[in-house]
Amino acid sequence: MKDLIPPGSTLGMLGSGQLGRMATIAARRLGYRVHVLSPDQDTPTGQVADLEICADYDDSEALSRFAQGVDVVSFEFENVPSQTIEQIVQHAPVRPGGHVLHTTQNRLREKTFLREQGIPVTEFLAIRTVGDLEAVTDADVPAVLKTAGWGYDGKGQRTVRSLDELRSAWDDIDNAEAILERFVDFSCEMSVVAARGTDGSFVCYEPVRNVHRNHILDVSSVPAQLSSDAEKQAMEIAQTIFDGLDVVGVLCVEFFVTEDGRALVNELAPRPHNSGHLTIDAHATCQFEQQVRAVCGLPLGSTRRLRPAAAMINLLGDVLLPEELDWREVLSDPDLKLHLYGKHEARVGRKMGHMTVLADDVETAVRHGLAGRENLSRS
Ligand code: AMP
Repeated sequence: MKDLIPPGSTLGMLGSGQLGRMATIAARRLGYRVHVLSPDQDTPTGQVADLEICADYDDSEALSRFAQGVDVVSFEFENVPSQTIEQIVQHAPVRPGGHVLHTTQNRLREKTFLREQGIPVTEFLAIRTVGDLEAVTDADVPAVLKTAGWGYDGKGQRTVRSLDELRSAWDDIDNAEAILERFVDFSCEMSVVAARGTDGSFVCYEPVRNVHRNHILDVSSVPAQLSSDAEKQAMEIAQTIFDGLDVVGVLCVEFFVTEDGRALVNELAPRPHNSGHLTIDAHATCQFEQQVRAVCGLPLGSTRRLRPAAAMINLLGDVLLPEELDWREVLSDPDLKLHLYGKHEARVGRKMGHMTVLADDVETAVRHGLAGRENLSRS
């Protein structure tokens, strides 16, 4: 029982966005207190936490204060510097551990780890030097050039169709360490969210089908309606990754499904993921509660889906200007659940909230969700 952090204890959260907010709500429902640390103030997480510490991730004094006031720490943002984690673990366990962050913070390290585990990944090359760039041939494009570190939601990535385009794309990212991935002409994208406890117990949600727009997730739906082979393969790959990385917490594996039905891993997120938001309304235990249960050493909850189908529709700053909305119109569909993240400023591409629709079939769920978003942008 040494790993147990019982309800009534304090969970520390690094990062203060919507993922931290939803994890905090789940933690408080289970009777935990939550302290959050990030460089920002009046944040989506801070608004629902017991204590919001506004400090940089390298502010040693603030980190000590934060770490001494909590019983366990998790994060909602994987670009936390490794020195931050090293300082915190002197006072409180960090789950998932720093080694998980280290691997998943860098696309080259992540893909190399996956390949070493025998897991199918997109073909890739490392671009660190001019020599690496010169070794790329016409046969390696079209491809997607991505910065190896600090990337999410398509930031720091560009599709290149020729060697000239590749050279200029690498210049645009100031010749930073990068990964060149072969362009995958996938038939669809899916993801698997799963959780692993301190005792090695493992639970996995069914695969979710994802549609991206401008490299940002737009719609997620379940059931994914893929071949049972691809779905089974994806869930097995997820377990191999959790065991191989010794993850305690929640992690999401994003996949491309090829025309011939193979599942290739695109990337890992060592925390709850946007594609798992529908678990709040559609599943017996949501991904955020699993995160709390896993990092606090509690038994994991059921991943059973409660209705035949569900869809999640993202609300970006482009469509959402809350002060102008007719809320009665927006919520006129009784099967639509609205989640807003408390962000003050709506910017293009910024995730402001999402909607989940439950229905008897996935087509109806997606249709109602999209109609709900239409309503929102018109009202
Ligand atoms: P990522 O930040 O790697 O998750 O990329 C965001 C989105 O960009 C993915 O979900 C895909 O829709 C697209 N994308 C990224 N890498 C590739 C690739 N190698 N081939 C085709 N599309 C890609």
